[in-house]
Formats: sequence, structure tokens, C-alpha cells
Amino acid sequence: MAQAVSDVLKQHLIDPEVCIRCNTCEETCPVDAITHDNNNYVVDASKCNFCLDCISPCPTGSIDNWRVVNAAYSVDEQYSWSELPVQQDIAVQSANDETGEALDEEAAALIASAHQGTGGKPIAPASSAKPSVNLFNRGRPALAIVTGNYRLTAENGDNDVRHIILDFGDTRFPVLEGQSIGILPPGVDAQGQPHRMRLYSIASPRHGERPNTNNLALTVKREPHGVCSNYVCDLKKGDKVQVAGPFGATFLMPNDSAANIVMICTGTGSAPFRGFTEWRRRMTPDAVGRMVLFFGARRPEDLPYFGPLQKVPDSLLAKFFAYSRVPDAPKIYVQDRMREQADMLAPLMQSDKTHIYVCGLRGMEQGVDAALDDICRGSGVKWSELRERMRGDGRYHVETY
Ligand code: FAD
Ligand code: NAP
Repeated sequence: MAQAVSDVLKQHLIDPEVCIRCNTCEETCPVDAITHDNNNYVVDASKCNFCLDCISPCPTGSIDNWRVVNAAYSVDEQYSWSELPVQQDIAVQSANDETGEALDEEAAALIASAHQGTGGKPIAPASSAKPSVNLFNRGRPALAIVTGNYRLTAENGDNDVRHIILDFGDTRFPVLEGQSIGILPPGVDAQGQPHRMRLYSIASPRHGERPNTNNLALTVKREPHGVCSNYVCDLKKGDKVQVAGPFGATFLMPNDSAANIVMICTGTGSAPFRGFTEWRRRMTPDAVGRMVLFFGARRPEDLPYFGPLQKVPDSLLAKFFAYSRVPDAPKIYVQDRMREQADMLAPLMQSDKTHIYVCGLRGMEQGVDAALDDICRGSGVKWSELRERMRGDGRYHVETY
């Protein structure tokens, strides 16, 4: 049942542009309200009891969408969607409103956006190219061939991060920097179900590892006992891989050579930023917009792309590395390096041309946010307000996992 808010309904929906069709929500829902066809995963409003059990297991957040409606969207309507409908301009009569005044559109949107986490739905940069999403899925995967698998971290350590190149042959698989793909590892889990899809950020620019090749690169870290990362890291040249996607409609690069791009990452969070840097290097190497990278790892030998990054000129990419476990050296995190660079970052952050991207370890989010808060405070700016403005403009993006 859709939840009644006086004479209108609040309906739980799944964003088809973001959903990776992993089936987690359908498996989790205790009342079988979530179902799917070949196109979409949808919520049956006549069954949903708003228990919210499905929200936290969803790997993408696509599950956390709500609309206030006069009549619930049917399952069949939802199957046909390629994007969520906009929130209709509905005057909501509050159930507890003793004054009897109708709430305005803003209030309706607030109710609709409840449970969406802080900051609401992320927005793509206004100038970014329009991404293609969900062209391939589990029922209809793209088949890619492995054309390269190179170790990016020191051979002698047990931190194995790899650069994997997947070629799509004649299959059209259009991507943009910042998007992800889904890898479908072969085999079944302990319950005999096909293994879940895993997401990996695209580490190459939109026109391929080399210009105008129909391939893309991934930066994959081998996780001990991890199903998919071991499968991918063990792939050999010529192996065939089932791929879903592309996914991601907001963590995208601005298509504006005047845009300043501040990139903050740890480990494999560097993958999308390799794509960003390569695209700008190839297309607008003399761009007036600055690119700045803060990159954290335990030691230099754990930092993916350490060697190639040294060759990118500072005029194109200003680089600040933070190492946490170098013997006889202090523990430094990306947020420490950012604070050191406050004089450079503060004016950059106040420019409407600046975009900030954070990618990698979930744990760094809080520290990075605190550093941005300190940097802003130092120049009399309130970060919480600036962050909301930047997010609303599609200029602040976080993707941590
Ligand atoms: P799982 O099999 O899912 O295991 C998860 C963890 O459980 C592992 O750490 C593993 O050590 C532990 N585990 C599993 N089984 C056992 C066991 N029997 N005993 C003990 N421990 C166990 N990753 C990247 O490397 N590069 C990327 O660019 C990247 N981009 C991403 C982008 C997004 C948007 C998201 C959401 C995730 C991204 N990831 C990326 C993470 C990736 O999707 C996977 O989660 C990751 O590779 C681990 O998957 P796995 O199948 O190897 O591990
Ligand atoms: P990671 O190596 O665990 O972390 C990357 C960097 O982020 C490290 O410098 C780490 O410092 C730092 N960091 C941790 N918490 C942070 C926070 N709150 N704010 C900012 N920075 C923070 O990440 P990863 O490269 O993605 O690797 C993930 C996993 O790989 C690890 O959990 C580990 O199992 C394995 N790994 C193993 C080795 C190895 O040599 N055996 C090396 C790297 C990774 P800390 O030093 O404090 O962790």
C-alpha cells in the first residue's frame, strides 16, 4: 500500500537510471513488493508496507526514491520507465495540520525526499555529456574480451591492484568518464544462485584506452576471498567476460574546459580520475580550468598509477600524495594534504567553475568533509551551505564503497 499523507499518497520507487538490477532488493523485501521484468525493478505500491528493509542493502541508492502522488504508479507503468517521473506539483494536506492549510510544493518535495540521505539526489554537472545507462543487464549482457591485465602495485607486496582492459569488439558500449560497469562473475553462490554483479569504475576516457578503440579499462583490487575481484584479477588475455551497464548518471565530468576539477581519492578510487585526466589531456590540454588530485595510499608502492602519474605535467594536473604507512614518516591522509593546500583550495572552492569529486574508501568521507569545512571557515565561508549549493549545481560528487 502506498502511504497516505491525507488525501495524497507517498509512493516508493526505484530509479531505473541508477539501478544495477542486482536483485538484492527483491531478495530482501519481506512482503514481495519488489518485482522485475527484463527492463526494470519496480515496487508494487499495493504491497509495500514501508518497512525500509530494502534501503540499506542496495549498493547504488537507486532504491531510495519517493514521490507524492494522487494515484500510485502501477507496476506496468514502472516497467516502461527509462527514468523516474518528476515530482508532480501536488498540494499536500498534512495529516497533522490543524490549520488546515495545504503545504506547498517544497513541503511535498520534502516529504517525497524523506529517507534519501543527506543532500538529496545527486545531480550531474550541467555541462556533462548525456550518459547512456543500462544498455546491458544480466538477462542481456555484453560480451567483452580481455586484451590486457597489468599489475599496478609493487610485485613483491600482497596488495594486488590491476589494470584490466576489456574490448567490446563490434558491440556498441558507449561510456563516459566517471561511469561504472557491472561484471557478472561466472558460477553460483552457496545458495546455488548466480553470483551477484559487482560494480567497477571505468578508468579510461570515453573513446577508449587509445583514441577511437572500442575498449575500456578498470582498476581492480584483489580482495582476499572476494568472488569477483579475484575472478577479474585472474583474467587472461583472450578471456571472455559478461558485462552489464553502463551505470551512473551523475558522477560525470563537466564538458567545460574552464571547469576546475578537484579530485580526492584513495586506492582504486583513482580509477575515474584517470579517465577524467586522460580525457582532458587528449581533448583540451591547454584548458584554463585547473585539475587538482589528492591521492592517498599506505605507501608509494600501493598507489595505483604511481609511475604514469609522475609523467603528467603539473600544468595539467597538480598532484598531492598522502602516505599513511611509510616507515619513520608521519601518517598522512588526503585530508591532511588538503589542509596544507588551504591557500590554493579556498579561492578555488569559491569559484562557480569548481567541481569536487571524492572517490574511494567510505571512511575518508567524513575526514574530507571536515577538511573542506576547515578550509572554508578560514575564508569566512560556511561549507555546509556551499556544499548544498555545489550539490544542487551538480558540482559536488561522492562515490565511496
Ligand atoms: P566479495 O566476494 O563481495 O567479498 C567482499 C568482502 O568480503 C571481501 O573483502 C572479502 O575479503 C570478504 N570475504 C568474502 N568471502 C570471504 C570468506 N569466505 N572469508 C573471509 N572473508 C570473505 N572495486 C575496485 O577494485 N575498483 C573499482 O574501480 C571499484 N569501483 C566501484 C564502484 C562502485 C560504484 C561500487 C559500489 C563499488 C566499486 N568497487 C570497486 C568495489 C567492487 O564492486 C567490489 O565490491 C569489490 O571488488 C569486492 O568484490 P568481491 O566480489 O571481490 O568481494
Ligand atoms: P587502504 O590501503 O586501506 O587505504 C588507502 C589509504 O586511505 C591508506 O593510506 C589509509 O590509511 C587511508 N585511510 C584509511 N582511513 C582513512 C580515513 N578515514 N580518511 C582518509 N584516509 C584514510 O585502501 P585500499 O587501497 O582501497 O585497500 C583496501 C584493502 O586492501 C585494505 O583494507 C587491505 O585489506 C588491503 N591492502 C593491503 C595492503 C598490503 O600491503 N597488504 C596494502 C594496501 C591495501 P591507513 O594506513 O590508516 O589504513
